[in-house]
Amino acid sequence: MAEPTQPARILSVTDLTTHVRQLVLLPQEQRIVFQPGQWVSLKLPVGPKPPLNRAYSMAAPATDSGELTLVFDQVAGGLGSGYLYRAKAGDELLLSGPYGNFGLPATPDRDLLFISRYTGLVPVRCMLKQLYATRPAVSALLIAVAPAEDELLFHQELLTLAVTHPGFRYLPLVAASGEQQGVDLALSMLRPLIDGAEKVTPLLCGTKAFVRPLRAYFVSAGYDRKDVKTETYD
Ligand SMILES: Cc1cc2nc3c(=O)[nH]c(=O)nc-3n(C[C@H](O)[C@H](O)[C@H](O)COP(=O)(O)OP(=O)(O)OC[C@H]3O[C@@H](n4cnc5c(N)ncnc54)[C@H](O)[C@@H]3O)c2cc1C
Repeated sequence: MAEPTQPARILSVTDLTTHVRQLVLLPQEQRIVFQPGQWVSLKLPVGPKPPLNRAYSMAAPATDSGELTLVFDQVAGGLGSGYLYRAKAGDELLLSGPYGNFGLPATPDRDLLFISRYTGLVPVRCMLKQLYATRPAVSALLIAVAPAEDELLFHQELLTLAVTHPGFRYLPLVAASGEQQGVDLALSMLRPLIDGAEKVTPLLCGTKAFVRPLRAYFVSAGYDRKDVKTETYD
């Protein structure tokens, strides 16, 4: 059955960095019950054939009040993100959902290894918040690649999580020249951790140019393709 489309009111607009913004939305007709890693589809009144459908992952776990937290970067010339950048508190957006299968394993029997680039961190942050609120002893490593030091998302929060939860390790990396540099840097960190070591559960998120070479690396290192969980944005 198709998910119903409904209006959601923008409760707040917050700049997280120069190029990344957070919207908190409240669906107006029906509560959206979701798992961390899932996304909603926004139907935006722009483009040659509106609505323009654009997916945005929830950045924070579900709350009792039913709010949805979305975080997105301003893509140069991007129609969807450009529209969202002009939206103000009090405006309404049409959306449906939740959708998606990118999520935490039901019973984590291996350590978790999250690797994200830029706003690819959004669903991962949602998962980490839920994970450490419910299972504080879980072992996880996050490799988070950003295009600039001041574009490292949720950086203080993740540093704090690493200090307060000994099972969580956080490795922020800066790759200013794009996805390929991000892949190269992530691989240089990964190889000594993965080659010949006990298997982990990789969860990768970002654009295809970032995610696909990393998935290929895990497969070449002996992982089943289905055991490498991915979400791609483009
Ligand atoms: C399942 C899913 C979840 C998503 N969750 C998020 C999210 O939480 N936050 C978020 O910022 N975006 C997310 N996206 C991407 C989002 O749906 C839009 O594609 C993005 O905002 C660009 O749309 P646009 O119309 O502005 O740009 P378009 O005109 O569609 O241009 C997209 C082009 O910009 C490049 N690009 C640069 N940055 C991005 C980016 N972040 N996402 C996609 N393409 C990019 C791509 O290479 C692509 O060719 C998600 C996409 C999917 C499929």
